[in-house]
Amino acid sequence: TNPNVSDTLKATANRLPNREAIYDESRRMTYGELDQEVTNLAKGLIRIGVASGDRVAVALTNSCEYVTAFFAISRVGAVLIPLNPFFSKEESAYILQQAGAKALFCDAESYYSELRQEIETLSTIISVRFQAADYMNYAELLVGHKSEEVRIAPTEDLFAIMFTSGTTGRPKGAMLTHENVLFSAMAGSNRMKCTEEDAFLIPNPLFHVMGVTFILRATYCGGKLVIMQKYSVKNALALIESEKVTVHPGVPTMFILELNSPDFDSYDLSSLRTGEMAAAPCPVEIVKQIRSKMNCNVLVAYGSTETAATLTMTGFDDDDTLRSETVGRPVHGVEVKVVDDHRKECAVGVVGELVCKGPGVTKGYYKMPEETAKAIDHEGWFYTGDMATIDENGYVRIVGRKKELIIRGGYNIYPRELEEALYQHPAIADAAVIGLPDELFGELTCACVVLKEDITTTEEELLGYMKERFVKYKVPDKFIILDKLPITASGKISKLKLKEQLDNNIS
Ligand code: ATP
Repeated sequence: TNPNVSDTLKATANRLPNREAIYDESRRMTYGELDQEVTNLAKGLIRIGVASGDRVAVALTNSCEYVTAFFAISRVGAVLIPLNPFFSKEESAYILQQAGAKALFCDAESYYSELRQEIETLSTIISVRFQAADYMNYAELLVGHKSEEVRIAPTEDLFAIMFTSGTTGRPKGAMLTHENVLFSAMAGSNRMKCTEEDAFLIPNPLFHVMGVTFILRATYCGGKLVIMQKYSVKNALALIESEKVTVHPGVPTMFILELNSPDFDSYDLSSLRTGEMAAAPCPVEIVKQIRSKMNCNVLVAYGSTETAATLTMTGFDDDDTLRSETVGRPVHGVEVKVVDDHRKECAVGVVGELVCKGPGVTKGYYKMPEETAKAIDHEGWFYTGDMATIDENGYVRIVGRKKELIIRGGYNIYPRELEEALYQHPAIADAAVIGLPDELFGELTCACVVLKEDITTTEEELLGYMKERFVKYKVPDKFIILDKLPITASGKISKLKLKEQLDNNIS
């Protein structure tokens, strides 16, 4: 039979029924309890008419119920549509419509009743941890079932349709199969040497692909998920201490905030075995600080929604320099190469677009054949949109996103290179370099920085610092000191929002 995400849970529940599976800051579940609740929920879904192949949206904040829904949908052969619960009505409507969602889980009163009127396919709304008159209640779905097992094969091999955040246009739904997500999770778990002794902090929203991969990594190895309902520096550090967290995944911003937290030293972080920094450029300086201040290993991983997360990752055996400066080598089964604008392979060390192939790569974008054809060629190579080099030993260095390249007076500038230097400045906590339109040069570079709490500097001093390190055309034309940088729902720095913010201030 084909692999199914919910079988991974079943296998672990049979092997380790009493192992703690989840703590979500209010509820704890063992693997036995999790599997039982998933079975009951699956039966509840069948009772309300959810069948194999149906699309079920989950607009939940991080919780045990996100995880039960995740597995129950797969157990009845239906397709998970993760939805950001903070989306506006229009954003949600577009995705629910596009996916043809039949049911929706939510954990707060919102505009969902109105959406049910507007979206023909949407018949049931399931309320989690709250009651609403015309919603089906989660707790009611769980009761009144016989004790048999359920396992319905999906009509197609789809596990989820994950919509990209749509920073560059309408959100695109990457179709991920059971094989895609299981493969990536296992490959990542193996590289990280995860075991049932591990406790994984989950600071990221579960509707992001990092959520998918860590739910599966933990379930696969029998580790515990320590799920944060909402990220805060204080809670993250406190949970590492109280739940004896061993693995701390996160986007760079989270690590930066934690390392700069004034009461950092008051927490006992000695249970940490490793961090995993991923999902956005990971500054070398931050990798070093995690190692020295958090006193643990840290791996850097690279991937995207379309590749079911992990494509490449550093390993514990890599030497320190490689671990800091690169995103490692492809995980098991993944092939990567770098190509030029004519899609011809580049020589070793030459910058080009990174393309990849492997069992984690999406079949394509749902109902968007043209976008799919642009992103995946006839041989199955997926075009990541990231510029990179690969060295003679296969280590990948991400130079920057193709879309974020700044062209100033005909010269190419990769923000990443400048940001790396800014992070090394003693007064800088966070940094983002963007291009601003300019009549003469086409674009000018603007460095936006956030300062550490107790240190000050000036724009002139920063200018001097960069002048010492870079050829003239790369030195930022403008420095702006901000209180914080805008971030996306998954915690990455949003250069788009940053540009909008600057535009608004200027006009
Ligand atoms: P959207 O496409 O809607 O803007 P997104 O691209 O941020 O959303 P994701 O799939 O989460 O959605 O992001 C994947 C991208 O994140 C990669 O293509 C790459 O640009 C960036 N990225 C991920 N990991 C790393 C890393 N370790 N180093 C540098 N960049 C990374």
